[in-house]
Parts: sequence; C-alpha cells; structure tokens
Amino acid sequence: MPTLADTVGELESIYDPAWAESWDAVGLVCGDPGARVRKILFAVDPTAVVAEEAVGWGADLIVTHHPLYLRGTTSVAATTYKGRLVHTLIKNDVALFTAHTNADVADPGVSDALARAVGLTGPLTPLLPAAGDPRRGLGRVGTLPAPLSLRDFARRAAEGLPRTAGGLRVAGDLDRQVSRVAVSGGSGDSLLGTARAAGVDVFLTADLRHHPASEFVEEPGGPALVDAAHWATEWPWLADAAHRLTSALAARGITVETRVSETVTDAWKTTAECEELK
Ligand SMILES: [Zn+2]
Repeated sequence: MPTLADTVGELESIYDPAWAESWDAVGLVCGDPGARVRKILFAVDPTAVVAEEAVGWGADLIVTHHPLYLRGTTSVAATTYKGRLVHTLIKNDVALFTAHTNADVADPGVSDALARAVGLTGPLTPLLPAAGDPRRGLGRVGTLPAPLSLRDFARRAAEGLPRTAGGLRVAGDLDRQVSRVAVSGGSGDSLLGTARAAGVDVFLTADLRHHPASEFVEEPGGPALVDAAHWATEWPWLADAAHRLTSALAARGITVETRVSETVTDAWKTTAECEELK
C-alpha cells in the first residue's frame, strides 16, 4: 500500500506542478504524507457532496480538478463551507490533491479526454501549444472520422458527455458541415481568437458569454460554437487520470483502488421555460 507521499509523487510526475499557471493553486491541500492510500476518488469539484461520497466509500484521497482554495485563506474554521470541508476531510483521514491547469496542458490532458468523448478519434494537437513543449498545451484540435452537420455534431457531443441540466448550446448555421474541431475543457473564452486562427469548423468549450459568442459568430468565416456545461467538459478527464495513476503505481508493483465520482457538481441544477414559471 503506497503512502500519500508516494501517490502525490506519481501524480506530480504525470501532472507536473511546474506546468500550472502562476495564478493557480495545485498540489496537496490536506493530508499526512506518511498516511497509507488504498482508495482514491476522482472528482471535478471539491464540494461537500464529493467529500461525503469519499467518506462513505472509505477513500483515503480525493483527486480533484478544481482547487478548494484558489486565492488562499487565513482560516479553515468550520464557519465557511470550505473550512467545514477541510474539517470533514481531516476528521475522516481523507487527503485532498488538486491537478488543475497542470492537467489542462498535460499530454494527454483534460482536453484530450474531452476530444475523445465528443467523437474525435484521430490524432490531436494542442490548440495553443505550451511554450517550450509543443506536444503540450491548451485545448485540442482534431478531425471527425466523417464530416457531420453542426446539428449532428452537437447531438454526438451531447451523447458523449455526461448529462447536465443545461445540455449543450449551439451557435452557428445548424446545417453547416463540420470536420475540423477544436475543444477546450472548462472556460474557453480566451481561446476564441485562437480557434478562429486555427481555421477549425467548430469550437466546443464551456462558460461562453453572450457578447464574445455573439460577435464571434456574426463575423463571417469563423467556426461555429458549442457551449457545454463546465463540469461536463472536464469530467471525461477523471477516468484518464485514474488510469494513468493506477498504471504508474502498478509498474512499481503497487495496487490502489480508484473510483470516478458520477455526482454532477455543475453549478446549474435545472432549467425552466417561461411556461413553467406561470
Ligand atoms: Zn474547470
């Protein structure tokens, strides 16, 4: 049975913390490096329901994509939900580790798993290659096995991603044919210009806002847009991360049990039509 330090060492050799953005907060949030790790839960968000799932399953470690504390804190008192989460974890001997923007730019990383989930089967290249290592980077670009209408691509993507309340939103001519696809897990606003410059037919990401999206599709010649739930675009990565960690540990003769949380922690829980609000 590995120690937490062994497990963190493997995770950081797969997702090097040096690759993280300067504003990010990745790595071990809580946990005793000497503690034994037998069961590891993978989840997108460090929320109370995920902590409860970890405790109920008897997990020793939770690996999340999103940081619990991105901007630092001076208190972990249980007077806030974050402090309460830290208490729950420590009382139950559950460690918490985050791989965020260092997992985004890994090879393979978050957007590779997203690309596979929405139907890209061939080679993938970074949409925005990392400085100094063009094999890594933000987003991925690939080609569909056969061209699809934008409508059918969106349907295919919806089938490949976990279900969320909001589904997918599509901007552009629904009948246009799409073949080259760019994807970026999480908030992809900042990559709109890069997707246009890459000459792709459609860009799938999350958290797109009205003005950037509207202006983007009004300008002729650019890609269509598909906007998915933030959680859904990052969830496919969890199984890949779990597989890479168990393989790395297995190569050292170490066996751990992993589980991917299927709890939907996307912020948006439902949608309502005007008819329903009457
Ligand atoms: Zn995210």
